[in-house]
Amino acid sequence: MVVAKKFDVDVLVVGGGVAGVSAAVAAARSGCRTLLVENTISLGGLATNGYVTGIAGMIEGICKEWLDRLNKEGDLFNRPHTPSIDPEKGKFMLERLLLEAGVRILYGTCAVDVTVEDNLIKEVICHSKSGKIVIGAKIVIDTSGDADVAAYAGVPCEIGSAEFAGLNMSTTLAFRMANVDMLKFREANRAWNEKEEAEHGVPSKMTYVTDLIDKAVENGDLPYKIFPTALIYPVPKTPEDNADITVMTTHSYYTRNTDVEDLTRQIIEQHQQIIWMEKFFRKYVPGFENSRVSGLANLHGVRDSRRIVGEYVLKDEDVVCARKFEDGIAKFPEFLDTHHPTNPRLGFIRHVHLEQPQEPAVCRPAQCSDDMHPFVKPGGFEARCNPREYCEIPYRSLVPLKIDNLMVAGRCVSAEFNANAAVRVIATCMSTGQAVGTAAGLCLQNGLTPRELDGKQVREAMIKQGVPLDNEPDKHWQNIRETKGEFVLLSGDFIGIRTPQGIKIHL
Ligand SMILES: Cc1cc2nc3c(=O)[nH]c(=O)nc-3n(C[C@H](O)[C@H](O)[C@H](O)COP(=O)(O)OP(=O)(O)OC[C@H]3O[C@@H](n4cnc5c(N)ncnc54)[C@H](O)[C@@H]3O)c2cc1C
Repeated sequence: MVVAKKFDVDVLVVGGGVAGVSAAVAAARSGCRTLLVENTISLGGLATNGYVTGIAGMIEGICKEWLDRLNKEGDLFNRPHTPSIDPEKGKFMLERLLLEAGVRILYGTCAVDVTVEDNLIKEVICHSKSGKIVIGAKIVIDTSGDADVAAYAGVPCEIGSAEFAGLNMSTTLAFRMANVDMLKFREANRAWNEKEEAEHGVPSKMTYVTDLIDKAVENGDLPYKIFPTALIYPVPKTPEDNADITVMTTHSYYTRNTDVEDLTRQIIEQHQQIIWMEKFFRKYVPGFENSRVSGLANLHGVRDSRRIVGEYVLKDEDVVCARKFEDGIAKFPEFLDTHHPTNPRLGFIRHVHLEQPQEPAVCRPAQCSDDMHPFVKPGGFEARCNPREYCEIPYRSLVPLKIDNLMVAGRCVSAEFNANAAVRVIATCMSTGQAVGTAAGLCLQNGLTPRELDGKQVREAMIKQGVPLDNEPDKHWQNIRETKGEFVLLSGDFIGIRTPQGIKIHL
């Protein structure tokens, strides 16, 4: 093999998505000589290049630093839940965080293989414009999103849902639209919600856009229901009455997200869907009359692919039961965000089945429809996350089996299918990134492998860094915890809280 360049570092981070940047910053701040390689030519992964600009989860630690800095520049649409970023400014700010921490970056560099000796990754082999690059590192951090490095090294991985014959969640290529009157759109939404609640008690459809999509399908203006609704995030600094937004509404089903032929099928299918959706938005959605598609994400919206099998596999049950761990290094008050692998009408699965009801999950005897679980017929109890609770991820879920100098963060950590769908949101990916970067520093200072390191030490170190792992969620989440009222199941498997003023919180 002809080697164009060689590097030797303390910590190598593969993948410059939000998890990778967070990991590299934390490792460099712990005194490690850190190199980050990124396949594309910018940082942020799905959050920026995938146009997933709404930041969900607990915003703490390095994620908070990133967003506070964007906010200072006016590049954050700062609402209490799911603030949204300017995707391009988000990339610059991540780069600045890395450079300030002293991380070396290689763009246009893709990890393609590893050499392993005695359960240690000796070298990571990358492809770049220079040719082959070989990188030796004491600790390797896999934040490729797809657990590429772990898979090359032979770490056992799981793919997709066993219940769905190994299929992954449906995928979404996001796009950007310009010339949207968000004021008009919000007003139309508000009026629709009021009318629905007056007529039916709760909205009879998932959202206003759901209603409009159904009408367009009935009228033959959309050939089929692609997805029940559209997720829309405004781009900061664009005027409210002439806004740029990012949109997630395309969907491919029956996906196999580690198969390049199937990924290509999905992308071609979603290009066609974007053409249809632009026409739909202009014709049906108030505020979108003069809108147009102004950009396509250049990372495909893969929600899940491989998940490593680690020292602890976070269970679906752990999430709905809001479990906490002594080595908890990230907390997340999110619901199960499982996009349905096969069904465009349902869109989501927001519950798991337990044999018996368990506190504090919101449980009822199973009554879900046959098409919710087409390959099995689960009984017992449907259990949904209690919106007043939160769960933690243990450090052990970031430590893969088999390889002794590897850690993983972001959307490919060790978790069951539905649990993974909960922990994959951006803020949580940044928390697991910060945890592995911090752990790398502790390992090298103390001569330990990630497996030997006690995760409680990582938790303590993160608390010292100012991550409030020892406190309950605040702000938006505190508000949910304090909102009095009954939980109600809404269309689309969502939970809301019924208050005297109407349904207050849609999750
Ligand atoms: C359509 C969609 C909608 C979503 N909606 C939301 C939402 O509203 N809010 C929210 O918080 N989360 C949402 N998520 C989840 C969230 O965006 C992602 O799970 C999260 O951003 C993943 O971050 P990551 O750093 O783990 O991985 P990624 O963002 O996938 O980053 C991986 C990085 O590694 C690079 N890379 C990959 N392989 C290699 C390699 N071999 N060598 C070098 N570099 C490599 C990639 O180019 C990329 O930059 C959504 C996801 C999708 C797909």
